[in-house]
Amino acid sequence: MRLQVLGCGDAFGSGGRFHTCFHVDASEDLPGGFLIDCGASSLIAIRRFGVEPNRIHTVFLTHLHGDHFGGLPWLILDGQLVSGRTQPLTVVGPPGTAERLPAAMEVLFPGSSTAERRFRVVVEEMEAGRPVETGGVRATAYAMRHPSGAPAHALRIEAAGKVVSYTGDTEWVEDIVAVGHGADLLIAEGYTVERPVKFHLDWATLKRHLPEIGPKRLMLTHMSPEMIAHPPDGYIAAEDGLVVTF
Ligand SMILES: [Zn+2]
Repeated sequence: MRLQVLGCGDAFGSGGRFHTCFHVDASEDLPGGFLIDCGASSLIAIRRFGVEPNRIHTVFLTHLHGDHFGGLPWLILDGQLVSGRTQPLTVVGPPGTAERLPAAMEVLFPGSSTAERRFRVVVEEMEAGRPVETGGVRATAYAMRHPSGAPAHALRIEAAGKVVSYTGDTEWVEDIVAVGHGADLLIAEGYTVERPVKFHLDWATLKRHLPEIGPKRLMLTHMSPEMIAHPPDGYIAAEDGLVVTF
Protein backbone atom coordinates (compact mmCIF):
# COMPACT_ATOMS: atom_id res chain seq x y z
CA MET A 1 0.00 0.00 0.00
CA ARG A 2 1.17 3.51 -0.73
CA LEU A 3 0.01 6.36 1.45
CA GLN A 4 0.90 9.96 0.77
CA VAL A 5 0.42 12.70 3.31
CA LEU A 6 -1.40 15.51 1.50
CA GLY A 7 -1.86 17.46 4.70
CA CYS A 8 -0.80 16.94 8.31
CA GLY A 9 -1.31 20.37 9.84
CA ASP A 10 -3.51 21.39 12.72
CA ALA A 11 -6.48 23.72 12.25
CA PHE A 12 -4.27 26.80 12.53
CA GLY A 13 -1.71 26.21 9.80
CA SER A 14 1.16 25.42 12.19
CA GLY A 15 4.37 25.01 10.23
CA GLY A 16 2.63 26.20 7.02
CA ARG A 17 1.11 22.75 6.62
CA PHE A 18 -2.07 21.82 4.80
CA HIS A 19 -5.10 20.59 6.69
CA THR A 20 -5.50 16.88 7.35
CA CYS A 21 -5.67 14.63 4.29
CA PHE A 22 -4.07 11.24 3.54
CA HIS A 23 -4.19 9.70 0.08
CA VAL A 24 -3.98 5.95 -0.46
CA ASP A 25 -3.48 4.70 -4.02
CA ALA A 26 -1.14 2.93 -6.43
CA SER A 27 -1.91 -0.60 -5.39
CA GLU A 28 -2.79 -2.99 -8.17
CA ASP A 29 -5.37 -4.53 -5.85
CA LEU A 30 -7.28 -1.28 -5.42
CA PRO A 31 -9.59 0.18 -8.06
CA GLY A 32 -8.53 3.81 -7.64
CA GLY A 33 -7.57 5.68 -4.56
CA PHE A 34 -9.20 7.00 -1.46
CA LEU A 35 -8.72 9.83 0.99
CA ILE A 36 -8.77 9.76 4.74
CA ASP A 37 -10.12 13.18 5.73
CA CYS A 38 -10.27 16.13 3.38
CA GLY A 39 -9.58 19.37 5.23
CA ALA A 40 -10.36 22.83 3.93
CA SER A 41 -7.07 23.20 2.00
CA SER A 42 -7.04 19.68 0.55
CA LEU A 43 -7.87 20.49 -3.08
CA ILE A 44 -4.84 22.77 -3.15
CA ALA A 45 -2.75 19.92 -1.73
CA ILE A 46 -4.21 17.51 -4.31
CA ARG A 47 -2.93 19.86 -7.04
CA ARG A 48 0.40 20.50 -5.29
CA PHE A 49 1.21 16.78 -5.08
CA GLY A 50 -0.16 15.86 -8.51
CA VAL A 51 -2.99 13.61 -7.37
CA GLU A 52 -5.63 12.89 -10.02
CA PRO A 53 -8.89 13.86 -8.26
CA ASN A 54 -11.09 11.72 -10.50
CA ARG A 55 -9.30 8.57 -9.28
CA ILE A 56 -10.46 9.20 -5.72
CA HIS A 57 -13.48 6.95 -5.30
CA THR A 58 -14.08 7.40 -1.57
CA VAL A 59 -13.39 9.93 1.14
CA PHE A 60 -13.45 8.55 4.68
CA LEU A 61 -14.04 11.18 7.36
CA THR A 62 -13.05 10.95 11.00
CA HIS A 63 -15.04 13.97 12.21
CA LEU A 64 -16.82 17.07 11.01
CA HIS A 65 -14.39 19.86 11.80
CA GLY A 66 -13.45 22.14 8.89
CA ASP A 67 -9.79 21.12 8.95
CA HIS A 68 -10.88 17.49 8.41
CA PHE A 69 -13.91 17.70 6.09
CA GLY A 70 -14.05 21.30 4.81
CA GLY A 71 -12.28 20.47 1.52
CA LEU A 72 -15.17 18.40 0.20
CA PRO A 73 -17.12 21.31 -1.35
CA TRP A 74 -14.07 22.18 -3.46
CA LEU A 75 -13.38 18.56 -4.40
CA ILE A 76 -17.00 18.14 -5.52
CA LEU A 77 -17.05 21.43 -7.43
CA ASP A 78 -13.74 20.56 -9.09
CA GLY A 79 -15.31 17.32 -10.33
CA GLN A 80 -18.30 19.23 -11.64
CA LEU A 81 -16.63 22.28 -13.19
CA VAL A 82 -12.98 21.47 -13.89
CA SER A 83 -12.02 17.80 -13.87
CA GLY A 84 -15.08 16.47 -15.69
CA ARG A 85 -15.81 13.74 -13.21
CA THR A 86 -18.35 11.05 -14.15
CA GLN A 87 -17.71 8.33 -11.55
CA PRO A 88 -19.58 8.53 -8.24
CA LEU A 89 -17.79 9.96 -5.24
CA THR A 90 -18.57 8.17 -1.98
CA VAL A 91 -18.23 10.04 1.27
CA VAL A 92 -18.19 7.87 4.39
CA GLY A 93 -18.47 9.87 7.57
CA PRO A 94 -19.97 9.93 11.04
CA PRO A 95 -23.70 10.43 11.66
CA GLY A 96 -24.50 14.01 10.66
CA THR A 97 -22.41 13.99 7.46
CA ALA A 98 -25.48 13.93 5.19
CA GLU A 99 -26.64 17.18 6.78
CA ARG A 100 -23.33 18.99 7.37
CA LEU A 101 -21.88 18.45 3.88
CA PRO A 102 -24.69 20.21 1.95
CA ALA A 103 -24.84 22.86 4.68
CA ALA A 104 -21.13 23.59 4.19
CA MET A 105 -21.60 23.72 0.42
CA GLU A 106 -24.50 26.16 0.71
CA VAL A 107 -22.58 28.49 3.02
CA LEU A 108 -19.56 28.56 0.72
CA PHE A 109 -21.19 28.36 -2.73
CA PRO A 110 -24.95 29.00 -2.57
CA GLY A 111 -26.89 26.64 -4.83
CA SER A 112 -23.98 24.19 -5.10
CA SER A 113 -25.47 21.44 -2.96
CA THR A 114 -28.37 20.89 -5.37
CA ALA A 115 -26.58 21.71 -8.66
CA GLU A 116 -26.86 19.19 -11.48
CA ARG A 117 -23.64 17.33 -12.09
CA ARG A 118 -22.56 14.35 -14.12
CA PHE A 119 -21.64 12.24 -11.11
CA ARG A 120 -23.34 11.24 -7.90
CA VAL A 121 -22.12 12.09 -4.45
CA VAL A 122 -23.07 9.17 -2.25
CA VAL A 123 -22.98 9.89 1.48
CA GLU A 124 -22.80 6.93 3.86
CA GLU A 125 -22.98 7.56 7.55
CA MET A 126 -21.10 5.03 9.63
CA GLU A 127 -21.75 4.03 13.21
CA ALA A 128 -18.95 3.09 15.56
CA GLY A 129 -18.40 -0.67 15.56
CA ARG A 130 -20.23 -1.33 12.28
CA PRO A 131 -17.77 -1.85 9.42
CA VAL A 132 -18.49 -0.29 6.03
CA GLU A 133 -17.19 -1.72 2.74
CA THR A 134 -16.78 0.32 -0.40
CA GLY A 135 -14.48 0.07 -3.43
CA GLY A 136 -12.58 -2.91 -2.00
CA VAL A 137 -11.92 -1.05 1.25
CA ARG A 138 -13.30 -1.98 4.64
CA ALA A 139 -13.45 0.68 7.35
CA THR A 140 -14.41 0.35 11.00
CA ALA A 141 -15.08 3.38 13.18
CA TYR A 142 -14.39 3.69 16.89
CA ALA A 143 -15.89 6.41 19.07
CA MET A 144 -13.36 9.01 20.20
CA ARG A 145 -13.63 12.06 22.47
CA HIS A 146 -13.54 15.25 20.41
CA PRO A 147 -16.71 17.39 20.26
CA SER A 148 -17.41 18.46 16.69
CA GLY A 149 -21.19 18.70 16.47
CA ALA A 150 -21.37 15.01 15.56
CA PRO A 151 -19.67 11.84 16.80
CA ALA A 152 -15.89 11.86 16.31
CA HIS A 153 -14.33 8.62 15.09
CA ALA A 154 -11.00 6.93 14.73
CA LEU A 155 -10.79 4.66 11.69
CA ARG A 156 -9.27 1.26 11.10
CA ILE A 157 -9.09 0.73 7.34
CA GLU A 158 -8.29 -2.57 5.65
CA ALA A 159 -7.36 -2.62 1.97
CA ALA A 160 -5.22 -4.87 -0.19
CA GLY A 161 -4.37 -7.04 2.82
CA LYS A 162 -2.99 -4.13 4.86
CA VAL A 163 -4.29 -2.11 7.77
CA VAL A 164 -3.96 1.63 8.15
CA SER A 165 -5.44 3.18 11.28
CA TYR A 166 -5.95 6.81 12.14
CA THR A 167 -6.97 8.25 15.49
CA GLY A 168 -8.37 11.49 14.09
CA ASP A 169 -8.41 14.17 16.78
CA THR A 170 -9.12 12.94 20.29
CA GLU A 171 -7.90 12.83 23.82
CA TRP A 172 -6.79 9.42 25.03
CA VAL A 173 -9.53 6.77 25.07
CA GLU A 174 -8.98 3.04 25.55
CA ASP A 175 -10.39 2.22 22.11
CA ILE A 176 -7.26 3.69 20.51
CA VAL A 177 -5.67 0.35 21.42
CA ALA A 178 -8.26 -1.52 19.33
CA VAL A 179 -8.02 0.97 16.45
CA GLY A 180 -4.28 0.67 16.10
CA HIS A 181 -3.61 -2.85 17.35
CA GLY A 182 -1.00 -4.48 15.10
CA ALA A 183 -1.76 -2.01 12.28
CA ASP A 184 0.72 -1.86 9.42
CA LEU A 185 0.59 1.90 9.87
CA LEU A 186 -0.95 3.79 12.76
CA ILE A 187 -1.37 7.51 12.14
CA ALA A 188 -1.89 9.19 15.48
CA GLU A 189 -2.45 12.70 16.63
CA GLY A 190 0.63 13.93 18.46
CA TYR A 191 -0.50 17.42 19.26
CA THR A 192 1.79 18.40 22.11
CA VAL A 193 4.93 16.89 23.64
CA GLU A 194 3.41 16.35 27.07
CA ARG A 195 1.16 19.32 27.81
CA PRO A 196 -2.43 18.04 28.09
CA VAL A 197 -4.87 19.81 25.77
CA LYS A 198 -8.50 18.87 26.25
CA PHE A 199 -9.85 16.66 23.45
CA HIS A 200 -6.39 16.24 21.90
CA LEU A 201 -3.65 13.65 22.24
CA ASP A 202 -0.20 14.42 23.63
CA TRP A 203 2.85 12.37 22.74
CA ALA A 204 3.73 11.43 26.35
CA THR A 205 0.32 9.78 26.84
CA LEU A 206 0.40 7.99 23.51
CA LYS A 207 3.94 6.74 24.09
CA ARG A 208 2.95 5.19 27.43
CA HIS A 209 0.32 3.10 25.66
CA LEU A 210 2.37 2.14 22.59
CA PRO A 211 3.36 -1.33 23.93
CA GLU A 212 -0.35 -2.29 24.22
CA ILE A 213 -1.19 -0.90 20.77
CA GLY A 214 1.77 -2.49 19.03
CA PRO A 215 1.54 -0.88 15.60
CA LYS A 216 4.15 -1.97 13.03
CA ARG A 217 4.77 1.68 12.17
CA LEU A 218 3.68 4.88 13.85
CA MET A 219 3.31 8.24 12.16
CA LEU A 220 2.57 11.34 14.20
CA THR A 221 0.40 14.06 12.72
CA HIS A 222 -1.59 17.20 13.61
CA MET A 223 1.44 18.52 15.45
CA SER A 224 1.65 21.86 17.24
CA PRO A 225 4.69 24.10 16.67
CA GLU A 226 6.47 22.58 19.72
CA MET A 227 6.02 19.04 18.35
CA ILE A 228 7.16 20.10 14.87
CA ALA A 229 10.30 21.55 16.49
CA HIS A 230 10.91 18.39 18.60
CA PRO A 231 9.75 15.33 16.63
CA PRO A 232 10.28 12.11 18.61
CA ASP A 233 13.17 9.86 17.55
CA GLY A 234 12.40 6.50 16.04
CA TYR A 235 8.96 7.28 14.66
CA ILE A 236 7.68 8.84 11.47
CA ALA A 237 6.90 12.54 11.79
CA ALA A 238 4.33 13.43 9.15
CA GLU A 239 5.23 16.06 6.58
CA ASP A 240 3.14 17.23 3.67
CA GLY A 241 4.10 15.18 0.60
CA LEU A 242 5.68 12.33 2.58
CA VAL A 243 5.07 8.89 1.05
CA VAL A 244 4.93 5.76 3.20
CA THR A 245 4.78 2.33 1.52
CA PHE A 246 3.94 -0.79 3.45
ZN1 LIG B 1 -10.96 18.37 15.20
